Amino acid sequence: MAPRLKSLDLFNDAYAQRIEQLMQEKREGRKVIGTFCLYVPDEIIFAAGADRVVLCGGKSDPITRAEEYLPRSVCPLIKSSFGSVIQSTCGTGEACPHFGLVDAVVAEATCDGKKKMYELLGQRVPTYVIDLPQVPDSPGALRYFESELGRFADYLEGLTCIRATDDRLREEIRSANETRRLLQRLFDYRKRDVPPLTGLETLKVMQKQYFLSPAVFKDYVRALCEEIDRTESPAGERRPRIMIAGCPMPSGSTKVPEIIESHGGVIVVEESCTGTRSFEHLVDEERLVSEALPPMQAIAERYLKIPCACMTPNDRRIESIVDLAREYRVDGVVYYSLQGCHGYNVERYCVQQALKQAGISMLAIETDYSASDAGQIGLRVEAFLEMIA
Ligand code: SF4
Ligand code: SF4
Repeated sequence: MAPRLKSLDLFNDAYAQRIEQLMQEKREGRKVIGTFCLYVPDEIIFAAGADRVVLCGGKSDPITRAEEYLPRSVCPLIKSSFGSVIQSTCGTGEACPHFGLVDAVVAEATCDGKKKMYELLGQRVPTYVIDLPQVPDSPGALRYFESELGRFADYLEGLTCIRATDDRLREEIRSANETRRLLQRLFDYRKRDVPPLTGLETLKVMQKQYFLSPAVFKDYVRALCEEIDRTESPAGERRPRIMIAGCPMPSGSTKVPEIIESHGGVIVVEESCTGTRSFEHLVDEERLVSEALPPMQAIAERYLKIPCACMTPNDRRIESIVDLAREYRVDGVVYYSLQGCHGYNVERYCVQQALKQAGISMLAIETDYSASDAGQIGLRVEAFLEMIA
């Protein structure tokens, strides 16, 4: 095992500072936007002068409260997110400190459970919904999405009185691409025989991406990369290399990575919205110049490539999983899906078929945020690691 990197502590200490920063911004009149999904482009929010925090829930505690409003069969991510909002607005249980700071929520038309949850959310906080074409390669999808993003920029201008001009968008594109490149650099280190970071450590960094300001996040990731560059690569025993593919793991949900790594595996890559999906495509900066591509179109192109399971067909995701498995030299894939998430649960079959053809073993884990199945998952993970070792 590689020694623990000191720069990881930067991320641990960041929470209180960020809350204070957001409160200060609000005192100065800056608007704060809450989001729940990768399809909402940060570039547009920042270009319109607002700040943003991601409100996806990964904790199990708020779920009981959410089930007073939502069916039990809805996925835990939706229930946890909504439960935190209820606790914040009704003053019961642990309130979400971020929700109390947001001026508006920007939602997106992805899975059915989320879309319906947003309707209930709209009763408590101004909620704006971006429509999303779900057959991304169909003729007209790109134009439609671009027009939706334009409408979104108009909405933000109404809130902040700041126009997301082309110049401002270009500036934010440069900044967001810089974050994406830094994250790719961080993930590249994990291709080493002994990765300098565990999967759990990397996940905690990725979770902070959604709540720190981009400038601070980039500084911390850069510091982490520089520390890795300065540190000699340790020799160590080879542990089974695992890729996690599937649903996001928002802050608070670390159960499955903890189990995998406590049983001797090492997670070297995550195909998820708390992994590669958040940074794998850049907005095309070159064509902004060479073809005078309108920045809003460049943003729409990049975001429509995100291979969420709400898209159909979603071959892009299946191909990406096989490519990542080879690139990071994984011994096996753990397919992680949340109960009630039909998109990722149904797509599991095609992923398994593709991995089988590529000669890569896969273990499917369908779970929630509770600890009740931890023992059973542990036994299955142990047997899987023995099989692929
Ligand atoms: S899994 Fe899909 S719906 Fe969920 S955050 Fe990612 S892109 Fe959005
Ligand atoms: S995990 Fe699945 S069901 Fe839950 S919000 Fe994301 S896409 Fe929707």
